[in-house]
Amino acid sequence: MKTYKTYSTRQTLQSESIPGKKMNKNFAGGFSFEIDDWERLDRFLILGNEGGTYYASAKKLTKENANCVLRCINLDGIKTVNQIIGISDSGRAPKNDPALFALAMCAGLGDEKTRQHALSNLPKVARIGTHLFHFISYAEQFRGWGRSLSTAVKKWYQEKTIDNLAYQVVKYQSRDGWSHRDLLRLSHPKAKEDSKNSLYKWIVSGEAIDPIHKLIEGYERAKIGVNNTADMRILIQDYGLTREMIPTEWLNHIDVWDALLEKMPLTAMIRNLGKMTSIGLIKPMSNAVNKITTELSNIDRLKKSRIHPLSILVALKIYAQGHGEKGKLSWNPVSQIIDSLDSAFYSSFETIEPTNQRWLLGIDVSGSMDWNNIAGMPLTPRIASGAMALITASIEKKHHIMGFSDNFISLPISPRQRLDDVLQKISRIRMGGTDCSLPMLWAIKNKIEIDNFVIYTDNETWFGNIHPCQALIKYRQEFGIPAKLIVVGMTATQFSIADPLDSGMMDIIGFDTASPSIMNNFAIN
Ligand code: CA
Repeated sequence: MKTYKTYSTRQTLQSESIPGKKMNKNFAGGFSFEIDDWERLDRFLILGNEGGTYYASAKKLTKENANCVLRCINLDGIKTVNQIIGISDSGRAPKNDPALFALAMCAGLGDEKTRQHALSNLPKVARIGTHLFHFISYAEQFRGWGRSLSTAVKKWYQEKTIDNLAYQVVKYQSRDGWSHRDLLRLSHPKAKEDSKNSLYKWIVSGEAIDPIHKLIEGYERAKIGVNNTADMRILIQDYGLTREMIPTEWLNHIDVWDALLEKMPLTAMIRNLGKMTSIGLIKPMSNAVNKITTELSNIDRLKKSRIHPLSILVALKIYAQGHGEKGKLSWNPVSQIIDSLDSAFYSSFETIEPTNQRWLLGIDVSGSMDWNNIAGMPLTPRIASGAMALITASIEKKHHIMGFSDNFISLPISPRQRLDDVLQKISRIRMGGTDCSLPMLWAIKNKIEIDNFVIYTDNETWFGNIHPCQALIKYRQEFGIPAKLIVVGMTATQFSIADPLDSGMMDIIGFDTASPSIMNNFAIN
């Protein structure tokens, strides 16, 4: 009789597939569901796979994700391009590289219509000079320098306003072996206005002919050099120069940074907080602290500058630790700056109304979640998961945050704590195997009523005696609550613990800015 007890559709070891369900072996050796190619395309566009995962190298994942993009292109090229534009243009992804790479694939490997559609939308995805250089270097992996590509590049230059173009060429001068000069020589843009033609001339030959743009004039004057910081300060103010536009030897002067700070773009500001503190511009009671905290609390400005919450989290982590990830730069962090990064993190997500439902937020803190980085940023998936969970915890009053690996792990964190403390707490947790059914089993055992289970994970579950989706069904039956499961995927693989045939389970993407509102909608509908 014993042998017949080993086959059940209600409780199956995670190392085996559920009878009757379409499951595949995940990288950890357990069985998982797989998301479809369109969902996977989104995961790739938002999370990328720069550092690889605990189980798969970056190269292996790049190959798999690129194959997925290719399948999407072959299925519906126009839809693929539109999905890329949608994610990139809305600022949902922390980095734009996966979008540029996928768009380059469309521009090289799609049918005629797809290639055209990809190229005519180039400015929407390649918004700044650096993006354009990345795109060109990716495009070379899939196609030659034909006429349609040169027309697209030509339009990129022609459609920019003169002020924007002048800014692009001196702020983002070259990358990946490409410069604006190279691209102009290959694409030959022309303009009706003399001012723009003289800008083209300057880019190609370095010769400044009248009427030369004011920013170029300022850039040239800074390059020739001035005698003292007071003069450099005047140049920065008069011409609106940024850090990239002045010779590097000036970047160790407090007065120069003071002048740069006046009109500094928000992205540059959060990236240079350490530098500005180390040279003494940011210090307690200073005007700089006042200015920066004011800017960071300006929600409109935050939204307009497309600063991704993950970038803010990274800035906070690095600033609070008092030294850079690489290099020798160190500083004494000023508390108000950390506080305002902390609140900027929460306000960089869309504002949503609480559902007032009961939420269990389960963070996979197993060993694989502590590996490498998320979306190419210096944060591990489990730290990023903790921060994501706090977003929901800050909105929903009825919530509980728990950690799990192969065991329940108490995780006393809350949105009332400052994020740098939370990050430290999470990074000190011991590691272990992975059992994604634990949040449900924990709620069953402790008789806790839950409407929504949210599990932040890489979906590489293998340890448990019951699959997470079976544990959810068990929970629903025992408590008579139609509880839902939201799986927040923290790595760009194809795996999921959510049963695609159960409408009460859903996959979303970690650190998609849209995730909190998608979760909210799913919970109330
Ligand atoms: Ca794991």
